[in-house]
Amino acid sequence: MKHIPVLHPRLPSADRLAPYLQQIDANRVYSNFGPLNMEFGRRLGEHFGIEAGRVICAGTGTAALVAGILAVAGRAEPGRHVALLPAFTFVGTALAAELCGYQVRFCDVDPDRWQLTPDLARAALEQDGSIGLAVPVAPFGRPVRQAPWAEFQANTGLPVVIDAAAAFETVAANPDAFLGDLPVALSFHATKSFATGEGGCVFVAGPSQARLAIQALNFGFYTSRECDSFSFNGKLSEYHAAVGLAELDGWRDKSADFGRVVTLYRREFRDRGLERMLCCAPETCSSYVLACFDTVTEANSVKKSLADADIGFRHWYGKALHRQNYYRGRDGPELPVSESLAERIIGLPMAQDLEPAAVHRVVQAVA
Ligand SMILES: *Cc1c(COP(=O)(O)O)cnc(C)c1O
Repeated sequence: MKHIPVLHPRLPSADRLAPYLQQIDANRVYSNFGPLNMEFGRRLGEHFGIEAGRVICAGTGTAALVAGILAVAGRAEPGRHVALLPAFTFVGTALAAELCGYQVRFCDVDPDRWQLTPDLARAALEQDGSIGLAVPVAPFGRPVRQAPWAEFQANTGLPVVIDAAAAFETVAANPDAFLGDLPVALSFHATKSFATGEGGCVFVAGPSQARLAIQALNFGFYTSRECDSFSFNGKLSEYHAAVGLAELDGWRDKSADFGRVVTLYRREFRDRGLERMLCCAPETCSSYVLACFDTVTEANSVKKSLADADIGFRHWYGKALHRQNYYRGRDGPELPVSESLAERIIGLPMAQDLEPAAVHRVVQAVA
């Protein structure tokens, strides 16, 4: 029996990269928002149905998030030095806020949407007057609507930046609902469905946010070598933009391949009456196939049976953030929903070329 890895990514082949790499050879521009970066941003804009100027490419999803935060909230300042974010997310969300100087305050999430909601955020605001930023997250790509958070921002005056790292597909499916005035950061890490190895972008509201995001990613520079703002180097290189362009070229096929595997999973779960436990595309990013169990005991017994069958699995976010070593021991409330979700949701194997027999074996072990 062969080991089935939890994720077996496949990015564009050397053949498909070659024409773009030859363009780089000819251009002799390797970074600093060069021509391939511009083309990648333009094509992403086309894909999401928004103006190219509102798409700012970044070196990682975390860098994109930092750029979004610096563009609308700036660095933390005394009296507004706390960032509110869900405890159920990938740790990159919290680290991005910390990189901008904020102390993080974790909030629990809605048990059905797995998200921080404006209502939960309002309750936290009543207890803490020093919150200066809210970062709702699209867990596993389950997207975050702009409208309720735009209303929250208007009512509270608190800037909001959305970490939609894994939401390439769900946001593109309905940009009217999921893109707007609040910055939205995406990741193109190899584990995301649309991937460049490392990479990301942030969607901004318009030219003034775009300028601030670009400055945040490039030493505070804009058209001159004058540092205008707190910033860092978060740029996407031309080589990564090349991967992004080739990934866009092949996206329709990749997406269809993921879709076939998702259909196999749905059928296998349905045949066993377990469909209720499956959460996958189109609700999430295609690279996540999640099984969500009613109890931690049940989840643990499934983990044992997957391990016995030599099948990879992963708690993608690890423990709830306030339970992770670096954040542990800071005073804070109990966050039971986040703690429980982190233990009850198991990531199952996914790859665009996962065989039907492998899917069958995985679901058999789960059942
Ligand atoms: C992947 C991910 C990140 C980090 O993105 P990188 O590109 O790895 O920096 C942040 N937040 C969430 C929710 C993610 O899924």
